[in-house]
Amino acid sequence: MTLYVQKFGGTSVANVERIEHVADIVKATREKGIDVVVVVSAMSGETNRLIDLARSIQPRPNPREMDTLLATGEQVTIALLSMALDKRGCPARSYTGGQVPIRTDSAHSKARIEHIDDAGMRADLTAGRVVVVAGFQGVDEGGSITTLGRGGSDTSAVALAAALKADECQIYTDVDGVYTTDPRVVPRARRLERITFEEMLELSSLGAKILQIRAVEFAGKYNVPLRVLSSFVDNPGTLISYEDVDMENALISGIAFNRDEAQLTVAGVPDQPGIAQRILGAVADANIEVDMIVQNVAREDGKADFTFTVHRNDFERTLELVRETSAKLGAWKVEGNDHIVKLSLVGVGMRSHAGIASRMFDALGSEGINIMMISTSEIKISVVIEEKYLELGVRALHSAFGLDAAESPAAEMPSATVSE
Ligand code: ASP
Ligand code: MG
Repeated sequence: MTLYVQKFGGTSVANVERIEHVADIVKATREKGIDVVVVVSAMSGETNRLIDLARSIQPRPNPREMDTLLATGEQVTIALLSMALDKRGCPARSYTGGQVPIRTDSAHSKARIEHIDDAGMRADLTAGRVVVVAGFQGVDEGGSITTLGRGGSDTSAVALAAALKADECQIYTDVDGVYTTDPRVVPRARRLERITFEEMLELSSLGAKILQIRAVEFAGKYNVPLRVLSSFVDNPGTLISYEDVDMENALISGIAFNRDEAQLTVAGVPDQPGIAQRILGAVADANIEVDMIVQNVAREDGKADFTFTVHRNDFERTLELVRETSAKLGAWKVEGNDHIVKLSLVGVGMRSHAGIASRMFDALGSEGINIMMISTSEIKISVVIEEKYLELGVRALHSAFGLDAAESPAAEMPSATVSE
């Protein structure tokens, strides 16, 4: 028997009408002869409302009590959805995380799942019932309610799908899939039919708004096919899975961008062992994450330039730290720029095709966009450019790699760039 885990996020269960609509979707799946375990979030805005309530009592409430409070949001939804299913003649049974049980560690507000007991759910499925599980929550060894962190219902769904060896984990959300890039920047961005786990992780700056990256990693680890789709539009969404042999890989799957970057350059540092560590060690000690790093080849005078990027929020602090180190090192100067962005071209097709980088640089160069830094991985090429060129750059790349959708949105393009 085919089994799907279907997860519905906050907007999909925002009110009773929408919960009834979710019940219709679940019922339709059951009518196809598919077993269903449903995972739901709290009704949209509910978790935030509960957080505000707690904070009106204490700015930093006790983490155990906070989790007990927040878990109520999902408990409301499982009961209402089970009633809506019942009304449709579709027998259902609700489970809190503790009732499954979904066993976690005791790290309140960021608990990690350790074990899921599937016996109770299996018995319900065998008896022809839909199982409705509260996302985002679990129970620790001592019986305390735990939560998995904001957006954690996605992870609950994937974990349940892995434990039950479900055929698919379907994440219903308010967008109908993963797009080639942000449609607000490129109106002709199009929905991807399929994408690999690896690509989804590399596109995280686009994907993070759609589903928890932690859930994608989890799904990859247990090889759970993930489908992102909308509860408001009727289309198959985007399937995230491993590459399979007959999968026609587009050369490029998508273009991600990140506005939150800032760049620092230490000019004229002595080209000696241990210099990179001296500069970045102080930054790491301050718990600041470094993204791209470039060191140029030393000049004849034995001095080199060292450039790296950090999150824009960490810019001022990093600048201070680097100024201190560079004074000690006798570097010439430190320069910073927090008006930069990172554009990334992502695609597993890159592995087997040469010339992607030059096509990328050509597309940007033709628009007069200067590339300030470059980094590559097996399936990604990232460049740093000036912030003012972000939209222009993304659009240029989107066209250059044939990602633009046909004029009429009705005409789904198969896979524009496929070529062998
Ligand atoms: N209700 C929780 C939140 O708002 C969990 C979730 O929606 O995934 O973060
Ligand atoms: Mg969510």
